[in-house]
Amino acid sequence: MSDAKPIIPPTAAVRLDSDALVANWRALDRLSGKAKAGAAVKANAYGLGARAVVKKLVAASCTDFFVANWQEAQEIEDLTADKASVSVLNGVRALDMPFALQSAAKPVINSLDQLARWKTSGRACDIMINSGMNRLGIDLADLHEDLFAGMNIDIAMSHLASADADGPQNSDQLKCYRAALGKVPARRTSLANSAGIALGSDYHFDVTRPGLSLYGGIQRPELADLIKQVAIPQAEVIQVRSLRAGDKLGYNAQYVADRPHDIAILAMGYADGYLRGFSSSGAFLHKGQRLPVLGRVSMDLIAIDLAAAPDVAEGTWVDCEYDLGIASAQSGLSQYELITGLGRRLARQWL
Ligand SMILES: *Cc1c(COP(=O)(O)O)cnc(C)c1O
Repeated sequence: MSDAKPIIPPTAAVRLDSDALVANWRALDRLSGKAKAGAAVKANAYGLGARAVVKKLVAASCTDFFVANWQEAQEIEDLTADKASVSVLNGVRALDMPFALQSAAKPVINSLDQLARWKTSGRACDIMINSGMNRLGIDLADLHEDLFAGMNIDIAMSHLASADADGPQNSDQLKCYRAALGKVPARRTSLANSAGIALGSDYHFDVTRPGLSLYGGIQRPELADLIKQVAIPQAEVIQVRSLRAGDKLGYNAQYVADRPHDIAILAMGYADGYLRGFSSSGAFLHKGQRLPVLGRVSMDLIAIDLAAAPDVAEGTWVDCEYDLGIASAQSGLSQYELITGLGRRLARQWL
């Protein structure tokens, strides 16, 4: 008798397209013109798996990665060592110093307090300039050359608050950022996120920092033809049943059958990040047919209409309609929330 435990095949997963991820990074790198594209891999690469994403992008010659905190830097440090630089966007607290001082990753210095904390280390850092988002960063009014004497500054960066829109805030921030650059002795400059790359060469500087669009998100029309879907959630049908006219379905009977028809119950729910906003509005796909979600999404179960796909049976896998633009319109969630919200229970299956 073997001691090995039998494997438990998953009932729901997210299929991840390696070629699409790499193609998206290359497209964003090309669109960045003279600038080189880095990659925002914070929040576990927007939920898709930081280690897998970093491995693939390092192989594609991406050399700058951006994470939120030191745990995230630690998680990829063996993959980036000697190959790429890692910036920690949330900066460095006193509590982070023991780890940060022996890490190859750089803090993005966000305040004068953080600057004082890091200054004497002699180690490399980036500087975040507040150009008008008023989230993190040192204000233009506080910048002067002496502040940085003796410091080893790699990237002087700022972040665009509204790059997905065409209002005046983009050029206002660009102007402020340019004024600040004269006062920060940095080796490199960086302003644009995914949407910022589409704003044109004025916004490119030396390094761009795409996140969402690497993972299939499209926040500006200029990116529509360049960016491919990366993540497709999929679920197994665990029961097929026939409704009669008048039968009620799911919590609070949000759907009532108006005719006899078959439905499938899928092993996925809001605990997997497929939130209630998809109730009666989302859909799954099978052989080119669209199978609408019926009624309320449960924690672990979803019902879909089989009228267009009578061949679906228990054990059939169906794809979720999860093009981020379409799914955002269906659910009212942002593309960022949709991709980062995919639950831990979905097995990540890279192709
Ligand atoms: C998250 C983040 C990015 C990436 O933004 P996307 O809109 O996902 O492309 C770039 N820079 C900073 C500072 C960020 O926080």
